[in-house]
Amino acid sequence: MNFPCPKCEQSGISIKDKFRVGYWRETHCAQCNARLCANPWFLAPFSLVYMWLLATCAFLFMFEDVGAMAIVYAVIGWLVIDILNIMLIPMSVMRNRNPEEPNGENPAERQA
Ligand SMILES: [Zn+2]
Repeated sequence: MNFPCPKCEQSGISIKDKFRVGYWRETHCAQCNARLCANPWFLAPFSLVYMWLLATCAFLFMFEDVGAMAIVYAVIGWLVIDILNIMLIPMSVMRNRNPEEPNGENPAERQA
């Protein structure tokens, strides 16, 4: 199962790459080599959800009598958030660092 690239709209992003961008990494489209990242406007609030989950489970562990179950909740919650992250967070095209790169956006070429 691959994800569509926001630039060329072909499915050039593997689920592994989509997972990586969910942790503020960048990746490249296998079809058009565009530099891609997760849209920070969606990813930033999502990162807060991870923090909230850890805080909630730490709270349960310390103040409620759930014991090791708090760790189980944290792991399950983390996996659920990861899946939502992969399914829901849209990707953005980043500007190419090196304009000489093949398939990169070369502003000189675009004017021609
Ligand atoms: Zn692409």
